[in-house]
Amino acid sequence: MVFDLPSQSCRIGSLQVTGSASSTIRNPATGEILACVPHLGAKEAALAVDAASSAFRSWSRGTAYDRAALLTRWADLIEDRYASLAELLTAEQGKPLKEAQRELRYGNSFVRWYAEEAKRVYGETIPSERADQRILILKQPLGVVAAITPWNFPVAMVLRKVAPALAAGCTVVLKPAPETPLSALQLVELAAQAGIPEGVLNIVTGPAEDIGAVWMADPRVRKVTFTGSTEVGRLLMSQSARTLKKLTLELGGNAAMIVCADADLARALSGSMFGKFRNAGQTCISVNRFLLHDHIAQSFTERFVEQVRSLRVGNGSDPSSDIGPLINEDGCNKVEDLVNDALRSGATLLLGGKRIKGTFFAPTVLADVTPSMRIAQEEIFGPVACLSTFNDDDTAIRTANDISHGLVHYVYTEQLSRAFRYSEELEAGMVGINGTAISCAHAPFGGIKQSGYGREGGHHGIDEFLQVKYVSIGIAS
Ligand code: NAP
Repeated sequence: MVFDLPSQSCRIGSLQVTGSASSTIRNPATGEILACVPHLGAKEAALAVDAASSAFRSWSRGTAYDRAALLTRWADLIEDRYASLAELLTAEQGKPLKEAQRELRYGNSFVRWYAEEAKRVYGETIPSERADQRILILKQPLGVVAAITPWNFPVAMVLRKVAPALAAGCTVVLKPAPETPLSALQLVELAAQAGIPEGVLNIVTGPAEDIGAVWMADPRVRKVTFTGSTEVGRLLMSQSARTLKKLTLELGGNAAMIVCADADLARALSGSMFGKFRNAGQTCISVNRFLLHDHIAQSFTERFVEQVRSLRVGNGSDPSSDIGPLINEDGCNKVEDLVNDALRSGATLLLGGKRIKGTFFAPTVLADVTPSMRIAQEEIFGPVACLSTFNDDDTAIRTANDISHGLVHYVYTEQLSRAFRYSEELEAGMVGINGTAISCAHAPFGGIKQSGYGREGGHHGIDEFLQVKYVSIGIAS
């Protein structure tokens, strides 16, 4: 497939920067070269902050209605190009075309929602105990925001950060993942076509350490919004200490799906397939561990294995593919290593268990997985389902919580009181009861523990880009 990728340059202020070196972007399914993107560094990272900083004054002083109109125009342009952007997303990331289309709709829903939310950044007035005083609370944009995004949702992670930041009145410097910069570059071009002024949204492709180091050290960058691994999140947190930046860290997960004895099994099975195999399991909210009540374990397992067996693995551009390749060799080696370790430690292989070819990994089901195995403790990021059983709610809650991460857990039960107990006792930023498709523009997405902090989505998501100012006004009493 040949894409119409005009100039692979980075938009920084009024410039289209190509730099003197470039990096090759390949299709993970075929190895085919898709494009070359600029290999920029510290100089361009600083230039981007200059541009964002200069643009901040006028962007933040415009009205929320002005920003909403431009964001809506951006969303319209993205929507007009859903078909070609989805093909590009599949080509650079590997996910099946139907998932790429879903990611575009999901990502763009944040642009539309935050275009409206820009108009609802309400301050407060607080009654004073003094007759000669009035108290106002203003909410103001933080300033320049650095957004750093991963490869697993190259469109959605960009839009989920940039839309609320721009809506709030902030300006942005963006570094997409090196594996998947092409759709991000296209989104930034569309923002410019929509009329979003120069310098408001800037993009820099190149080595993370060099670009990150400049942004983390620059006091003009007032906020960093990062999605990626816990390890890099910790590094950014330590680097940000010197300039005391506000942070949003959307880090890894290790979700449990608890299927209770009273669960609607058809519903649980459908939620399992989506929750485990979407994006070949390379999703932070992917189900890592299935905890099955003894009473339903056998029947669930038999039906689950049959459904997993029917999944078609292939190039994402083939409409019949359900699962594409893993992103790269390192990702595939990690999955292989975790599966082999689990098998050596006593897990039972029910299906799959190995690489098919290249970085395509067979949908895999392992039973008898115990909490101490590495595969139960670490984020798998691959199409591997780990099954184990429990016989009472206390054990299920304890097992689900006995990990360092705290992003999301899922529970299938038909009992209201049980649903409340799990919702309240599971240690996670999110709990899905009877469903795994929980992320949306209007609800706060994010984790606790080693999954990070800060929220994306809903009014909580725009608050991340705002600061509170208290104004005390003395008047004649
Ligand atoms: P990663 O290695 O942490 O990289 C994420 C981004 O950070 C990339 O753009 C990367 O660029 C950059 N980066 C790495 N080192 C940096 C540094 N020193 N300074 C500045 N930037 C730096 O994670 P990944 O492997 O791409 O993504 C997978 C991870 O993301 C998983 O753990 C997954 O759970 C998590 N994730 C979380 C969420 C969520 O919302 N909680 C959503 C999606 C994914 P380079 O690759 O060039 O180093």
